[in-house]
Amino acid sequence: MYITLKDINKIYPNGFHAVHNFNLEIEKGEFVVFVGPSGCGKSTTLRMIAGLENISSGEFLINGERANEKGPREREVAMVFQSYALYPQMTVFDNIAFGLTLQGVDEDAIEERVKKTAQILGLTDYLDRLPRALSGGQRQRVAIGRAIIRKVGIFLMDEPLSNLDAKQRVTMRSEIAQIHQETGATTIYVTHDQTEAMTLADRIVVMKDGYIQQTGTPRELYFHPVNVFVAGFIGEPPMNFVRQTVANGRIRFGSQEIDLGKRLKNIADWEGKEIVFGFRPEAVQLAGAAEGYTLTGNVELTEMLGDNTNVYIKAGEQNVILKVDSHDTPETDVNLTFHVPFESVYLFDGETEKVIEN
Ligand code: ATP
Repeated sequence: MYITLKDINKIYPNGFHAVHNFNLEIEKGEFVVFVGPSGCGKSTTLRMIAGLENISSGEFLINGERANEKGPREREVAMVFQSYALYPQMTVFDNIAFGLTLQGVDEDAIEERVKKTAQILGLTDYLDRLPRALSGGQRQRVAIGRAIIRKVGIFLMDEPLSNLDAKQRVTMRSEIAQIHQETGATTIYVTHDQTEAMTLADRIVVMKDGYIQQTGTPRELYFHPVNVFVAGFIGEPPMNFVRQTVANGRIRFGSQEIDLGKRLKNIADWEGKEIVFGFRPEAVQLAGAAEGYTLTGNVELTEMLGDNTNVYIKAGEQNVILKVDSHDTPETDVNLTFHVPFESVYLFDGETEKVIEN
């Protein structure tokens, strides 16, 4: 294994326990994304890997060798920050070359490598410019160039796209994916944006409150979330949840009943307990074919997004969102019947929030 994090904890000097028992193994060449809401400990973990923050307890190995005590340079990591951190008085060329100049690499070799890097990043025509004469996206590319030119083993990125506008973000996202394909560098990438995580990652680590919630491929997280948090975090619009106490094997959706026995073998064990019934907005069918639950609610609002429409439904106290083909956009203020196939229903224990294996 290339990188191993074993029972890593971070307790800041003020006593705040920011990261709890973090365990992860990363293979060479993998693109791993840490994702989670603000304050969940993603940056702290990345900074411990970078050597910018000391590790309170646990073991950090690179290539099987303990690296806890190694300084940032010895770890062979390069980091790209949210703020780019370019030198304003230096040209693009000198910014990209900076690390190599420090290492004492000879001038011809520097020139060759800078040109090659600039080519990969589409910066060839900008090498003489100063950072202030570049767009945000171009600056971010320079920051990435400065990191990849060093040919280090581990490439760390902390929210590298958050200062870009929406369109630039999409472009840079695909460029980062391409750079990774070309360089094959092991990459750890921090973001709070689940779309970035889903599109870039070989594997995603979902964090909350300093704890790993789930580690898996984008597919695993989308189709097999282990708990309510992951189910609600991955997917847009988020998964719908109906949270209720089971009575006679049923929960209610407005005035209708959902017979959980059709989906859950040991339903008797759940009598009087709280269950979270979940389904994704895109999993519903308007013309029911598959076996499933048939539900009805009032259409409160529709949002036509082009190829599909988000439909906001209310049934009693319950609000859910359906994502339908835009050709099927319903009128507002009418009753809409929809079907949730059994295989698209997720059930969670309301107390532990964990998925119920059936
Ligand atoms: P964001 O997306 O907002 O950057 P994050 O998931 O990267 O969030 P961290 O920056 O890792 O979160 O912070 C995790 C927790 O540790 C937060 O609650 C933060 O307030 C706390 N924290 C960060 N740095 C310190 C510090 N130097 N001393 C004490 N607490 C800190």
